Amino acid sequence: MPNGGPDNCSTCGFNRRNGGVWRNHAPDESQMPFCQIRGVPVLNDHWTYCENWHTRRPEPAGPIYSSGIYDEHYRRIPWHGAVAPEFVSSGRCSECGEAIHDGIVIPVVEGAPLGFCSNLHYLEWWKRQHQGEDAPMSRDILES
Ligand code: SF4
Ligand SMILES: [Zn+2]
Repeated sequence: MPNGGPDNCSTCGFNRRNGGVWRNHAPDESQMPFCQIRGVPVLNDHWTYCENWHTRRPEPAGPIYSSGIYDEHYRRIPWHGAVAPEFVSSGRCSECGEAIHDGIVIPVVEGAPLGFCSNLHYLEWWKRQHQGEDAPMSRDILES
């Protein structure tokens, strides 16, 4: 089981591979990992999370999360809507201008991808883009 937490998409009943069974020991390997309540592929399913794993209710609760940059322990960072954050080892942070060594990048449809030097700087950008939304699984990033 990944150290990022057992409550990931690979064990979620809403993953099409699992047919409504949480911690399914015999997932349908012929299916791609796909979240049925959000209508998105979750290709990195062992490292993707959301609150619906716990609520077990079909109304989407909050954002989807990826495992972020390892920082003392595993962290979770929200997706930008249906766009999963990716990881880079070079570039400049769009928040603070510092060089990126172990950072995050968000693909942008028209323009250069946006880079971030840390989970915190990504999350600060995300909060401006998603005003009125909350990302409770990322709260520890703001507190550290
Ligand atoms: S995104 Fe949430 S509801 Fe969908 S498969 Fe993953 S944990 Fe389950
Ligand atoms: Zn930065």
